[in-house]
Amino acid sequence: MKESGGRKQGAISPCAACKLLRRRCAQDCVFAPYFPADEPQKFASVHKVFGASNVNKMLQELPEHQRSDAVSSMVYEANARVRDPVYGCVGAISSLQQQIDVLQTQLAIAQAEVVHMRMHQLPSTPNPPTNLSDQNNGNSSTKHNTKSFFTMDMVIDHHQSNNMGESLWSC
Ligand SMILES: [Zn+2]
Repeated sequence: MKESGGRKQGAISPCAACKLLRRRCAQDCVFAPYFPADEPQKFASVHKVFGASNVNKMLQELPEHQRSDAVSSMVYEANARVRDPVYGCVGAISSLQQQIDVLQTQLAIAQAEVVHMRMHQLPSTPNPPTNLSDQNNGNSSTKHNTKSFFTMDMVIDHHQSNNMGESLWSC
């Protein structure tokens, strides 16, 4: 049921709901604030899924400050139901829920890896300086050691990324 020919322009232009229902848009029309004439698709899908009288009833039962949110929700649900007649917005919710589950598992694995790596790093770093060094030479040598250690790491990383880049370009 699509109507494309609704181009009658009276003195007062009816809201999208009254236009589709072909009725006079009264000044206190409950649909008018939420279904403007320039967005006819909003009411069309809500009407198709819920029915105009049900939408009317739901809006009447709500205080005015909640009606706009209710309309957004109904439009969202109706559009989802039109797209996916079986699951509606539950389809979107459950697929997002699945994504959350997958990501939470990945996060837990990553956090476990971080803990694992810290466990391996922590005991090795504090011991060598206290055991090996005299007080005078100790500070400078440990600083030097850590520095060179990190620069080596960086060099290795840099080298690897360079190799990867080259191989990518050569392909
Ligand atoms: Zn109206």
